[in-house]
Amino acid sequence: MAEQIRKALVTGGSRGIGAEISKRLAKDGFFVFVNYTSNKEKAIEVVDDISKSGGQAQAIQLDVSDFQAVEEVLGKLQKEMGPLDVLVNNAGITRDSLLIRMKPEDLDATLDIDLKGAIYCTKAVAKSMMKTRKGSIIQISSVVGEMGNPGQSAYAAAKAGLIGFTKSVAKEFASRGLRVNTVTPGYIQTDMTGALTEDQKEAILRSIPLGTLGEPQDIASLVSFLASDESRYITGQTIGVNGGMYM
Ligand code: NAP
Repeated sequence: MAEQIRKALVTGGSRGIGAEISKRLAKDGFFVFVNYTSNKEKAIEVVDDISKSGGQAQAIQLDVSDFQAVEEVLGKLQKEMGPLDVLVNNAGITRDSLLIRMKPEDLDATLDIDLKGAIYCTKAVAKSMMKTRKGSIIQISSVVGEMGNPGQSAYAAAKAGLIGFTKSVAKEFASRGLRVNTVTPGYIQTDMTGALTEDQKEAILRSIPLGTLGEPQDIASLVSFLASDESRYITGQTIGVNGGMYM
């Protein structure tokens, strides 16, 4: 199996955008590794949904902010299953506060998971991907990393960091046939945005020319394209899916 079927790892695949990306990539014919950190039940639900639809998937527990664990778990995975074709660095958290009230532990958690986690996972899979001279790595950043947002300076720093990281490794990896791109979602309906108050949602809606929040499928469609050979001439790009909120 390892040689024939294309394989994709989606970090934070147990819920929200990552769950939808996992399902979409499975529909596209990938064997999908659905990563989660604590929510095993949700990850199994995603795997079961994929199996019921005739796809193939497996849940994988891994905290992407733990460098040793990333090296060990992804090293073992690639040894057993062969190199990955696609990595989607989607795992992310928000720990919002105004800068003057920011707690160092919240800054650390945000940078560790949202930025360093993506760097660790990219580092752990790139070498074996390079040997196959193909592969697509996709970072899920945020519109907030492009335009900034009061109360989200740590999150914005992490998400903007991903954009610079992507461009650098896109240049490093291009001659080896690997492509690396960043997707910057606007406001998408998931648990993450479920925490917003009605007033906050109203204000956000006023700033979106297309007039609605996005759905996880809107992100999954672009990831599906970036994972496929249809996008073979696209690398190092930052592509917004935000209803026109930031142009
Ligand atoms: P979500 O519903 O809160 O889901 C977050 C996912 O990340 C879960 O699967 C969670 O796993 C996983 N995760 C969290 N910490 C992790 C860790 N240390 N290691 C591995 N996995 C971890 O979030 P979402 O709204 O789908 O967001 C997905 C991505 O899109 C994030 O990077 C987010 O910043 C970005 N984004 C979202 C929006 C939006 O409007 N929703 C907008 C722009 C960008 P468990 O289930 O195990 O907790």
